[in-house]
Amino acid sequence: MSHNELDALRKQVEELNLQLLEVINKRGELVQEIGKLKEAQGVNRYDPVRERKMLDLITEHNDGPFETSTLQHLFKEIFKAGLELQKDDHRKALLVSRKKKPEDTIVDVKGVKIGDGSQHFIVGPCAVESYEQVAQVAQAAKAQGIKLLRGGAFKPRTSPYDFQGLGLEGLKILKRVGDEFDMAIISEIINPADIETACDYVDVIQIGARNMQNFELLKAAGAVRKPVLLKRGLAATIDEFINAAEYIISQGNDQIILCERGIRTYERATRNTLDISAVPILKKETHLPVFVDVTHSTGRRDLLLPTAKAALAIGADGVMAEVHPDPAVALSDSAQQMDIDMFNEFITELRSHYAYKS
Ligand code: PEP
Ligand code: MN
Repeated sequence: MSHNELDALRKQVEELNLQLLEVINKRGELVQEIGKLKEAQGVNRYDPVRERKMLDLITEHNDGPFETSTLQHLFKEIFKAGLELQKDDHRKALLVSRKKKPEDTIVDVKGVKIGDGSQHFIVGPCAVESYEQVAQVAQAAKAQGIKLLRGGAFKPRTSPYDFQGLGLEGLKILKRVGDEFDMAIISEIINPADIETACDYVDVIQIGARNMQNFELLKAAGAVRKPVLLKRGLAATIDEFINAAEYIISQGNDQIILCERGIRTYERATRNTLDISAVPILKKETHLPVFVDVTHSTGRRDLLLPTAKAALAIGADGVMAEVHPDPAVALSDSAQQMDIDMFNEFITELRSHYAYKS
């Protein structure tokens, strides 16, 4: 074979490569179109029956020199790449993503603007135990200019024998205190059937770590017009966390506050491991405000102040912390709640470093 002959053949191969390139990308475009239609119709992207038909057609028409098994393998790779392309399109378009909406979402909680660049506090007892207990914390918080009050009425406890919360009675206490002190109420709801009722009592529905992937609860919270504070799951990746928020927004509710609350790792010095870098990642990937719960992420009273400083310094939209008039006798989380004196010192110290609004 002369040099000229070899060059000519190589040239033909290169031309065919370019044709293949064009054809493969053209196929990619068509697959994207199909993906969009399927999404609009709510049909599953992956269709094994159709793939089988396409492979059979290729087998029927194969005159060689390639073995059918080789061609099936090559085409299967092309099909897979097409499916990935459809998925990427979908991922790029997540409703909670900055790609979809570059501006920050501001969550309006009774006039408090969360996510506008100012920093806020959510404080209150782990569980609502009595009117007096909640009112004492509310009074101390209000005196510090804080407007967001938390308290658990439905407590998702690890053991079924532990205090489960006062339920509806707890929500009524919270509402009364909220009205009397003109504060906004945040409380966890654990049953999708309670979401609508809860709207009459609370200003923010909390979805707890143990329920981050309770998809029926997420959908129910997405269907009402109330802000939702969504906590990161006990061992959830950031991607899973973002997708949980997508469940809420996909139902039409964009008033979502994300809350990093520590994740389970091998480390036992703290109750959970605070994933502080999750804050800037979530702020970058989504347009939603991000809080840090320093109480449940550390489980240690001595770490509340340093972790709150870290949260504010790294750009969180706010900090959540538990405060109880007498933590020693608290019915839950007694080791990590602050008493009123400690709370006052905590706020004073943070105020000397950071300018936050409420
Ligand atoms: C809470 O905030 O009351 C709570 C139970 O926290 P988490 O869901 O993060 O454990
Ligand atoms: Mn608690």
